[in-house]
Amino acid sequence: MTAPTPSPSASSGSFSTPESAQGRTPGGPTKAPEPKLLPCKSCGSGVTAVDKFCRHCGRKIESGPPWYHQRIAIIILTLTILGPFSLPLVWKSSLMTQRQKWILGIAISLFSVGLIVVFGRVVRIVFEQFAELSRELNSF
Ligand SMILES: [Zn+2]
Repeated sequence: MTAPTPSPSASSGSFSTPESAQGRTPGGPTKAPEPKLLPCKSCGSGVTAVDKFCRHCGRKIESGPPWYHQRIAIIILTLTILGPFSLPLVWKSSLMTQRQKWILGIAISLFSVGLIVVFGRVVRIVFEQFAELSRELNSF
């Protein structure tokens, strides 16, 4: 009556999906902490500060502080176009000590004051010349 149920040997190899191995994949847009990217000067694509060469165009990447942080560049800019407006560059420069910044800042300030004094004198001389010229013209 009670027939022995033939257990199929096929079920010996149980196939259970290992959940621990898979783990939980982050579905959200969790960004990995990327290193700070700088634009390549040649092609404009992002390169990291540790890169020696651009990964996209292969050009050598010049690392280090920008040119306008250098003292000589700041002095040239002061003397040519910026005048007293170069003072922010002095404070932002990463290549100077606090003492050098003070010395250069004072030098730029003195230069600017001198420039204003000279400019004021030139303007006055020009005005005097014009006044003299107009007086001569009126005497005719
Ligand atoms: Zn590039």
